[in-house]
Amino acid sequence: MPIKAVLFDMDGVLYDSMPNHAKAWSTAVTEFGLSMSPHEAYLHEGRTGHGTINILAQRHWGRNATTEEMERIYAAKSALFNTCPEPQPMPGAAQLLQSIRSLGLTIVLVTGSAQHSLLTRLAHDFPGIFSAERMVTAFDVKYGKPNPEPYLMGIEKANAHFRTNNEHIAPITQSNTIIIENAPLGVQAGVASGCFTIAVNTGPLPDSALLDPGANLLFHSMQELADSWEELLNLLNTTTSI
Ligand code: CA
Repeated sequence: MPIKAVLFDMDGVLYDSMPNHAKAWSTAVTEFGLSMSPHEAYLHEGRTGHGTINILAQRHWGRNATTEEMERIYAAKSALFNTCPEPQPMPGAAQLLQSIRSLGLTIVLVTGSAQHSLLTRLAHDFPGIFSAERMVTAFDVKYGKPNPEPYLMGIEKANAHFRTNNEHIAPITQSNTIIIENAPLGVQAGVASGCFTIAVNTGPLPDSALLDPGANLLFHSMQELADSWEELLNLLNTTTSI
């Protein structure tokens, strides 16, 4: 079945923003009596901010964080993140997005982020690629990654867009959608959603952190994936079952 849609994670895939997130998390939580190393931040990557804070609260306080605490801590983390040098687009990301777009495939952003700053920048850095109707963010989801929910919502949004223009053609489903992820919990969510999940290891974790949760393929940079894209897509399109 020909591939019809590609769902993109944002941090660590489209932007080289994870070092800033890891630093902001590890610094911000200390003022609330919590602790998380930058390394641990990579292991939680993909969760909603509130989900991450609650795990720390359970560990350090022995209870869930209140909504007010979650909001206060997340605001402190966001403020620190915004003082970091502006994250740059990941090399190769624009090339890959353009290749996918030129083939007429539907592109959807699926992120656990609630960073307004980065969401606004997408339109500037990747013009004409993303639109508000084809984005799933922390504001849309109830569970977030590693639950498959965000990616299943991404498929729904891709399909809503696709069906408007292709009324009589078979819909976008898990079997014709690819997910691109860089985080262990994101790969877990992608695999659980039933889509072909490509891991791009752009961070400090070993490849096994992405292969063990079930990534179908692994690349070591977005540039490597962009350079292999055409060949990869041909292969997937001519394979009867992925
Ligand atoms: Ca990510």
